[in-house]
Amino acid sequence: MLLHELDNYIASVLEAGRFRDYCPNGLQVEGRAEIRRIASAVTASQHVLDAAAAWGAEAILVHHGYFWRNEDASITGIKKRRIAHLLQHDISLLAYHLPLDAHGELGNNAQLGKLLGFFERGRFGEQDIACHGELAPAQTLDELARRIEERLERTPLVIGDASRRISRIAWCSGAAQGHFEAAIALGAAAFLTGEISEQNVHVAEETGVAFIAAGHHATERYGIRALGGQVAERFNLEHRFFDQDVPI
Ligand SMILES: [Zn+2]
Repeated sequence: MLLHELDNYIASVLEAGRFRDYCPNGLQVEGRAEIRRIASAVTASQHVLDAAAAWGAEAILVHHGYFWRNEDASITGIKKRRIAHLLQHDISLLAYHLPLDAHGELGNNAQLGKLLGFFERGRFGEQDIACHGELAPAQTLDELARRIEERLERTPLVIGDASRRISRIAWCSGAAQGHFEAAIALGAAAFLTGEISEQNVHVAEETGVAFIAAGHHATERYGIRALGGQVAERFNLEHRFFDQDVPI
């Protein structure tokens, strides 16, 4: 397929124009016009660029691309190396940030809920990206932590009473620890996100609502992988997801 068709198709599926975001969504670096192989990854790191180029990708889809709102606009240092690598190999970079967190089926939060067995009842938080719902049947916090470890292949950091039964749960992939109070106000017994801040520990202990930090990278693998898979199937492209061992 043609690059501009790929770019337009994903923009319409994710309703990318609907979001106020901190980075450009869609085509960030332009490569060759014809696309047969697409790579997907959480972050457009040098590690991912090298692996995708070695595989022969013509386009890379990521959740964390480049050109963030408050970064230095100069193309120097690692940014120069990454962009030069893409241009030398004529590979396109397409990035989808908040529209990918939010999407009702392919999004990070929809995919994470599905993977962990959470039934979504509604949305909350910034631009309605975060989810709340139920864990059915209810599990103790300890059982839930073991399920998360098994399915995300990473040990979560859990603050709370291990024997507490969890039914109502709220979740948001990535660095959404700022949504903890809103999740408590919704009546959740536990909140799951990628990262944790010091203050979250005290709020969890003093309210009795569990906080689960399951990894920023680990909680954001599933949206971009689902998007790459959907696009590949629809347009008969080859697709491969490139993971990276990231401890955060
Ligand atoms: Zn993120």
